Amino acid sequence: MENSIVDNRDNYNVILEKQNVIDREPFRLLKIDDASGLDSVEGRVVCNKCHRSRKFFCYTCCTPLIDEKYIPHVKLPIKIDIIKHAKEIDGKSTAIHAAILAPDDVTIYTYPEFPVFSQDEKVVLIFPGKNSISIEELFSINNENNKTNNDSKNELLINGYPITRAVFIDSTWHQTKSIYKDERLRSLPCVVFKSRISQFWRHQRKSPRWYLATIEAIHQFLIQLHDSAYGTIDNYAFNDISTPTDKYHGQYDNLLYFFKYMYEKIHTMYDHDELRAYKRPLI
Ligand SMILES: [Zn+2]
Repeated sequence: MENSIVDNRDNYNVILEKQNVIDREPFRLLKIDDASGLDSVEGRVVCNKCHRSRKFFCYTCCTPLIDEKYIPHVKLPIKIDIIKHAKEIDGKSTAIHAAILAPDDVTIYTYPEFPVFSQDEKVVLIFPGKNSISIEELFSINNENNKTNNDSKNELLINGYPITRAVFIDSTWHQTKSIYKDERLRSLPCVVFKSRISQFWRHQRKSPRWYLATIEAIHQFLIQLHDSAYGTIDNYAFNDISTPTDKYHGQYDNLLYFFKYMYEKIHTMYDHDELRAYKRPLI
């Protein structure tokens, strides 16, 4: 007993040390466009639609307010619907980043507003519900269905994926639980993905550091989904991909374009070790 406590403490110290290394340069391995152009955007602009003063984009109207050349365009393999809590403060949420960077594939709804799914859509909710399954299980269920239906392999996959849409809830952990009580969400199969440690600088009371910002969660989920479908190129950030490949080589990393930019801005103003968000427990 005594030993296992010591072991756990040792393990925790190893995890802590590894995290400290990642924390020093958390985006090093990702393919994210250089965002230094954003520095040349001076001051704020008034949004055409709501007439509020904003920087880079309007988080109320979901529209970019700077030249398109400063905004990478990310194409996603599935559609993403984000349902946000009405009380979630727009300006604090990172969900807007997804809608600005991948406008063809991401829609934000303010609860109780809700997406309408057509019959041929395969939709999952990203939520750790009672019967939630992993991404691997999502793929293997499809393969089993194929076998029992005697269909040709992968017929149930669409472009190699077992789903066409994923729904994310954008709110604090407490609000998320209240939204999840909605029957329309409860009827959706739940999927969980392997979390990792958040780099979000905003401190959330009582949430551990593995509770990701919404944009981190979407990015992480898409990578793991892609990996299950096609695999990942080892150390993809170091490979210059000259021929197109189905394997993951950073296609969705630009989802973190604004996130990384803001992270770096915050870190030029404050010392990482002094930011409360990073003092949250790792596990
Ligand atoms: Zn606006």
